[in-house]
Amino acid sequence: MDVCLVRGNQGLFLNVLHDLNCQRFPAPKSMNSKKSKRGVTDGHGSFKKVKKVGKASPPPSLNDSLEGDLRAFLIDEDQLHTYDDLTKVNPVTPTTVLKCLQARYRAQVFYTHAGCTLVALNPFQPIPDLYSLDVMREYHSAPQPQEAKPHIFIVAEEAYRNVQGQLEPVNQSLVVSGESGAGKTWTSRCLMKYYATVAASSSVLKSQDAVDRIEKRVLDSNPIMEAFGNACTLRNHNSSRFGKYIQLQLDRSHFLVGASVQTYLLEKTRVACQPANERNFHIFYQMMKGASSEQKKEWKMGHGQSFNWLPKAQKTLEEDCFQETVEAMSHLGIKSDKQAEIFRILAGILQLGNITFDPPAKESKPCVLEGQSKESLQGAAGLLGVPAEELQACLAVRTLVAGKQSILKPCSLSDCGVRRDCLAKVVYAHLFEWLTSFINRSICADNSAWCNFIGLLDVYGFECFQRNNLEQLCINYANEKLQQHFVAHYLRAQQEEYVSEGLEWSFVRYQDNQSCLDLIEGNPTGVFPLLNEESRLNRASDAGKFGARLQKELGDHGSISWDKFSQEPHFSVTHYAGPVSYQIQGMMEKNKDPVPPEIIALLQASANPLLGQVFGDQEADSKAPQGLSKVVTVVAKFKNSLESLMKILHSTTPHYTRCIKPNPDCKPLTFHKREVIMQLEACGIVETIHISAAGFPIRIPFSGFIQRYGLISSSSQIKQLVHSKDVEHGHNDRLRTAVDAMVREALSHRSPGKVDREEGEEHGTL
Ligand code: ADP
Ligand code: MG
Repeated sequence: MDVCLVRGNQGLFLNVLHDLNCQRFPAPKSMNSKKSKRGVTDGHGSFKKVKKVGKASPPPSLNDSLEGDLRAFLIDEDQLHTYDDLTKVNPVTPTTVLKCLQARYRAQVFYTHAGCTLVALNPFQPIPDLYSLDVMREYHSAPQPQEAKPHIFIVAEEAYRNVQGQLEPVNQSLVVSGESGAGKTWTSRCLMKYYATVAASSSVLKSQDAVDRIEKRVLDSNPIMEAFGNACTLRNHNSSRFGKYIQLQLDRSHFLVGASVQTYLLEKTRVACQPANERNFHIFYQMMKGASSEQKKEWKMGHGQSFNWLPKAQKTLEEDCFQETVEAMSHLGIKSDKQAEIFRILAGILQLGNITFDPPAKESKPCVLEGQSKESLQGAAGLLGVPAEELQACLAVRTLVAGKQSILKPCSLSDCGVRRDCLAKVVYAHLFEWLTSFINRSICADNSAWCNFIGLLDVYGFECFQRNNLEQLCINYANEKLQQHFVAHYLRAQQEEYVSEGLEWSFVRYQDNQSCLDLIEGNPTGVFPLLNEESRLNRASDAGKFGARLQKELGDHGSISWDKFSQEPHFSVTHYAGPVSYQIQGMMEKNKDPVPPEIIALLQASANPLLGQVFGDQEADSKAPQGLSKVVTVVAKFKNSLESLMKILHSTTPHYTRCIKPNPDCKPLTFHKREVIMQLEACGIVETIHISAAGFPIRIPFSGFIQRYGLISSSSQIKQLVHSKDVEHGHNDRLRTAVDAMVREALSHRSPGKVDREEGEEHGTL
């Protein structure tokens, strides 16, 4: 057995464990649980993950010289695809890691371990049998799944077994990250299917076809959320335009009994404004394509009808999914009359998009409807259940409150458009929220029915476009937070533990993104607090002024810069994944996200019961003072929801999957080195591998080590210790002495040629 063993203050650390022969070292019953097969406790008694060591791969020695490693790497080049774990690539450099991934991709192997992380390469084509029921069963029933071929099901199974921990079951989080189109949502779906299969309760299995199976309901939430929250973009034909954290709830017997969904920052602007060559949310196209002619007539979507807000970018399969969405809605309990209300609202939104205004003949008058817009206004009003004149007035006239008096003021032409878009966005966002709550009510188990959860996090990846604004700042901030979680949880915590254990350890440098987070959220002069302050002031936003303020307050900060040749007010942030330049124009308005009170009042009085319901409890009193403190900004809301998420993540055992998009065109089985290396660098995969490869994958407290291996010692004192109270209560000094004795004993049995350290030294090889 090749074990490099290092004694710390609290326990033993084992490295490069190729063959822990359980027959030679019989484990006591208590340690032979599922948990102990896959992990051991650390010196503080908490559970630690054991790094997997795949069988198929040749294990290069960590002690070899760099030259030897290089040679090994070059010699093994045609074997690279067999490296299941990137920690075995030697030396670990961006180039070698890239070569290995490329070789595997060429060999159609899409998953590779990178120490504690799983790297998933997107094949961009369905791979037969990669996710079949048989494969799920295989991983689920494997005694040591981590020794099977790398697969997302290993991560799934590992989390599932962790949550079944006998001593202290810990909630789990599966964090799936990667850029748009990398495969996050696909992966989350696979994970959900896995749990819906392996964690299905036995009673459920008996009634496989019962329509009210909770597993089916949980899975059915996917097509609904994707229909309303996904869209075809330039980067992904099924891009999620919101973030989502799903908690799969497990009962005491570890059966799936329910789930809850939390969503983040829906990109509602897409409803009224689609970037060039991109599309609106799928649901609109589904209706256009899949509705019956009767429905289309009712929804004013007749033949030949075209909509400004339905650009015809690239056709996608989602157009054909209307029936699937409707079935999923029915299955989750959305009755057909409620569905009708939903679809009428959506159809009303499309009509709204066709309303345009012309300037008035007289300046003091409101703008007038342009040519065809009268019909669209009638259509929108009918579908949204509001009087047409009131809708028109709402779009074209503002009510100003001065003391006890209300003054009507015509809106400018551009303001009319802004108000129309605002109406569409607020309606769509509320509808999405209502759907999420409905889904939660339908799939969430009673609090008493579940005790643990496995959370799946699928949030938008890092974004850097030609023009970036508040949306990108929020999204990239979320990615910074997740990266920090990863860094804190894995890179830093692991290394700090070595230091606190008194181990000789040269710190592996990693990119800590705290400085960037300080820049964004730092109080009181971070970008967010300053933006909030500016947004809460009751005055017209001035991008130039805000830009100057940022320069004044943050000019010395290392993570922010300004391009002196740029004409526009902007600032650039050095994110962990790369620099991004943000335009300030419009940022404050987006942050305020104001909804005119007239619009809320109009919707509250809607004859469409669903609209009345979702806007029912919203304050719409136009006389209410627009006080500064009342404005809850987008950034403030987002930061709050993200903080709750981080709290949950910190309370769980995380598992990371990094999805990689092998080419920007979503072409099947095409690997662009440049794209991939940028993504690998952005998520710090090389540092992760370094730490995993050089680190100690197994930690055993002295007590556990004695319990497990004490019996094979020839010393009767140590054998006695196995059952003594000292072991149970962990008197560290005595245990440490005993362990030293065991190590000395083991070293004395070794062939002299293999001894590379003096007896009694803390480092030794068993
Ligand atoms: P993201 O959520 O990261 O933006 P998606 O999960 O939507 O990306 O993946 C984009 C597309 O890539 C999917 O629609 C699918 O066509 C393809 N894809 C992703 N992962 C896989 C996979 N494991 N096998 C086959 N196709 C995949
Ligand atoms: Mg997605």
